[in-house]
Amino acid sequence: MRSIFLTPFLLASCFVQAQGDPSTLERIVNQGKYHNQVMKRLHELCFDIGPRVTGSPKLSKAQHWAMRKFKSWGLTNIHLEQWGEVPVGFERGDHQIGRMVEPYDTKITFTTMNWMPGTQGLVRADAVMAPKTMAEFERDKPKLKGAWVVYYAGTGMGGPKQPEPADVKKALDALGIAGRIYGSQDERVWSHGTYKDKTIDKHSSDVQIIVSKPDFDRITRNIGFGRKTVLEFQAENKWFKGPIPQYNVVAEIKGGEKPDEVVIICAHLDSWNSPGSQGANDNGTGTVTAIEAARILSAAHAKPKRTIRFILWAGEEQGLLGSSAYVKAHEAEWDKISAVLNDDGGSNYQSGYWGYAQMKPMLEAAYAPTVKAFPEMPQHFDVYTDMSNDGGSDQAPFNYVGIPGLSVRQAGRQNYGHVWHTQFDRYEEAIPEYLVQASTNHAVVSYNLACADTLLPRGPKPKPKSK
Ligand SMILES: [Zn+2]
Repeated sequence: MRSIFLTPFLLASCFVQAQGDPSTLERIVNQGKYHNQVMKRLHELCFDIGPRVTGSPKLSKAQHWAMRKFKSWGLTNIHLEQWGEVPVGFERGDHQIGRMVEPYDTKITFTTMNWMPGTQGLVRADAVMAPKTMAEFERDKPKLKGAWVVYYAGTGMGGPKQPEPADVKKALDALGIAGRIYGSQDERVWSHGTYKDKTIDKHSSDVQIIVSKPDFDRITRNIGFGRKTVLEFQAENKWFKGPIPQYNVVAEIKGGEKPDEVVIICAHLDSWNSPGSQGANDNGTGTVTAIEAARILSAAHAKPKRTIRFILWAGEEQGLLGSSAYVKAHEAEWDKISAVLNDDGGSNYQSGYWGYAQMKPMLEAAYAPTVKAFPEMPQHFDVYTDMSNDGGSDQAPFNYVGIPGLSVRQAGRQNYGHVWHTQFDRYEEAIPEYLVQASTNHAVVSYNLACADTLLPRGPKPKPKSK
């Protein structure tokens, strides 16, 4: 009796496990776990290149670096695919200095928004509290001229909020000041910004420096105590004449039996760039995890039935621009994309996926070899009832049209909020053993899905989004 009840379950589990070739999977796990190069790649990306703002020369350098890597491992169809352009390029230069020099010498942690002007060299000037009215402006006029003007204004992701009445702003700008100083919310300084409505000739001339809250409090305390407070800043912000075409990087391991059907592994290569940031965890880690998965598969001589395509997006931080344009341009392929695995959650390990219930058996079987190899990093599948609203990163544009866009779940000890878009986003914050697991898992899962009997089951066709 028991065997009669068990037989259908056994059949079912055999069916979903009939994915990749077992000896190939063994080589993939062995290569990923014991010969992993993911930290070597992250080191190259962080120290040889650095942060990679969309439209910057460093992003372009990183794209060519990634293509060279793919080429060295024998991937094919390696190319840049244009998704759009930026009206003006921008990059933070290496000379970034912030100091209080009087009443005592201390370093200041600061940032400027992207596509905003920096200083003309090193600018040393008195710090003076901002006038709130024209009467205050007239009273303080002599000491405001040429000064760093300090504001108790709120700053958020988008930079400082407009802090002063228009007439006071106009008067200050006409008088000539070194720039405006704002405080952040805590020890982190975020670096966002926009190129919208800007060109190399036409953009704001305001120098706006955002200093960390502890440093801001130090400055305002000294001013409050009536002590002469002198600040020194150099923000070397470089501009590049546009329009400049922008690209995603694409590379493939061609499928042997169904080359037109595709499993995509992806991450965004662009990043933000607070002074000190290397774009290491957002999203250097996702990038090198994808690149290392390609190396592992290639070193393990994996011969998938379907094509495994690697895509490194750009324009993610500006609103998923690279991935959105890609989905639009590849409409003819929509029905043949099995799954999109997007890793954009920092340096924790890959702990499973969210998706429709019907995806669960195939994905559980797909990541089972990684769980076996890394038992201390468990994975599980959580059921979503609506994937079409999963809008946080580059999987979203795929989900909007009904292609399974799986945002890789992460678990572990990294406090991602501490590094996310801040000066702390550095190589030292990455966690090697987690990235070893993540790159191995990417290789294992993509190989299994690419060898499965069917494409990953889909959810209901979403209603078209009105933009
Ligand atoms: Zn990201």
